[in-house]
Amino acid sequence: MYDVHTHFIPTEVMDWLEENKRRVNAAKEKKDADKSVFLNINGKWAFELKELFIDEQLYLEKQKESGIVQSLVSPIPQLFLYEFDKETTLELSKVYNDALCRMSKSFPSIAGLATLPLNAPGLAADELSRSMSKGLKGAIIGPGCGNLLLTDAAFTPLWEEANRLGSVIFIHPLLSEDPRLRRRMMPNLIGVPWETTLCATDILLSGMMDKYPRVKILLAHGGGLLPYQVGRLDKGYSQWEQVKSTLQAPPSEYLKRFWYDSVLWNSEALQFLLKLVGEEKVLPGSDFPFDLCAWPPVLAENEAAYLSFVGDSRS
Ligand SMILES: [Zn+2]
Repeated sequence: MYDVHTHFIPTEVMDWLEENKRRVNAAKEKKDADKSVFLNINGKWAFELKELFIDEQLYLEKQKESGIVQSLVSPIPQLFLYEFDKETTLELSKVYNDALCRMSKSFPSIAGLATLPLNAPGLAADELSRSMSKGLKGAIIGPGCGNLLLTDAAFTPLWEEANRLGSVIFIHPLLSEDPRLRRRMMPNLIGVPWETTLCATDILLSGMMDKYPRVKILLAHGGGLLPYQVGRLDKGYSQWEQVKSTLQAPPSEYLKRFWYDSVLWNSEALQFLLKLVGEEKVLPGSDFPFDLCAWPPVLAENEAAYLSFVGDSRS
């Protein structure tokens, strides 16, 4: 079994956070006697700093217990740090990426993705290249930076480099900041898949996938809400020239060019996705060890698809 969607925080990153806690406004808070402390960076998206996020041996044991041959480990979105100055974001990115390189060299069950300074796309392109030259498979990035979506011209250097390298680019949502959602856990429950939906729809409709065909874009949480709305996109394509003019085929065809994880918790939804985009495009994932994780991954059979997804990244 493989896992394309899981997060870990290496010791080097915890040390950096301790040394730089004022710089990034990091605060630890004990909310519940039965839980670990919660970590909050710059007043955003607090999360429980479980031992499984930070204890290498414990993480590896859990992996082994669940029969996972290899996990594609990502940095956590709370540490993307896009709202800080570019020097700070790049500094932590390098520490995080070097630590994941070290882990992937030490443990065959670990492969890694880099975090990049999206707030400085030229530097992000350089850091992608540096990280992949040291053995990472590509990068995990948010659905944009501030109000900029990933199709904005500012990100051209990053897409060009990712295309040249044939990188995995895992687009991982952040909590939605829509003020209407601030209740009932909705920034996570519906805001997270909405952020993926918005980002992926924009990429699809922009025609960018024709321009950068070698980038392997992985969408989190089964592609958010996008797969279910593909009929609406196809209808718009047949109806409106402004939708059609940027594309060479209907949106439903472009949906098959993304990769998706299986983090859906619903077998009917998963079957729908498999049928819509093809079995080779849906990879086992867990989002472990966040609260909403599907652990171990439900989709166990897709070894060849996983290996071709990560294995030839640098070809
Ligand atoms: Zn995740």
